[in-house]
Amino acid sequence: MHIARTLDDLRTAVARLKQNGAVALVPTMGALHEGHLALVDEAAKAADHVVVSIFVNPKQFGPNEDLDAYPRQPERDADLLRARNVAILWLPPVDVMYPQGFATNISVSGVSEGLCGGARPGHFDGVATVVTKLLLQVQPDVALFGEKDYQQLAVIRRFVADLNLPVAIKGVAIQRAEDGLALSSRNVYLSETERDTAPRLHQTLQDAALALTSGASAPETLANAAARLEEAGFGPIDYLELRDAGDLALMDALDRPARLLVAARLGRTRLIDNIAVTP
Ligand code: AMP
Repeated sequence: MHIARTLDDLRTAVARLKQNGAVALVPTMGALHEGHLALVDEAAKAADHVVVSIFVNPKQFGPNEDLDAYPRQPERDADLLRARNVAILWLPPVDVMYPQGFATNISVSGVSEGLCGGARPGHFDGVATVVTKLLLQVQPDVALFGEKDYQQLAVIRRFVADLNLPVAIKGVAIQRAEDGLALSSRNVYLSETERDTAPRLHQTLQDAALALTSGASAPETLANAAARLEEAGFGPIDYLELRDAGDLALMDALDRPARLLVAARLGRTRLIDNIAVTP
């Protein structure tokens, strides 16, 4: 595995790969787990060579968020990726991502609004800007993103289409622990007791999805689910909403393919999850 730390080095290494096959990119913030590795495995199916980037992007963290505390384990990450036959690990320096005088912002309206965009102002500008840069740096044939960050995937699909970026975007299903908790780098923040409670988030989504597909009213189902989460110890709940699976428009009845999305705090940890709900 080649580890690239400068843009010149990255470009030379990618050009070499492209001479004999298609390239897939998996952007991450590191502290890798099986969720990230599932993206790498899908990437290996979608292309001949896999490039993984690790960059903890300051621009997508709010002023009171966990940028400094965010877990970092570069050597372990590199070992995991090496074992997965990743061709290039791209570790962009901050001054390549945000050079002196950096003044450009990619901002996506519509799908960025509400949900995590409402709870974390500026977050999706940070995501869209950094992902645009990563796509232009690596110029992959395909890039893979997890459905764990469902709104992020929708935002990325939107600007890639709007800007005619020549890359295919592939979403990958959420990888979960055996008890249903969606894998996340932030799960290391959970205390033992919180870790025991955490799977209730997914269970509540599953039960709500079942109620909705059985014809229960959406507002009532969402209110019940929120009450159940609060009883279990979650709170505050940033959002628990039924949205159109494609454009993320708010829905008040299950009349087309939808996604039920939640973000809630458990102690000091903010957990997100989502589930497909089909009429
Ligand atoms: P992150 O390092 O948290 O920015 O995540 C990098 C990529 O991995 C994003 O596309 C995430 O959606 C994806 N990802 C993170 N956790 C999971 C998971 N449990 N299942 C599937 N994809 C995931």
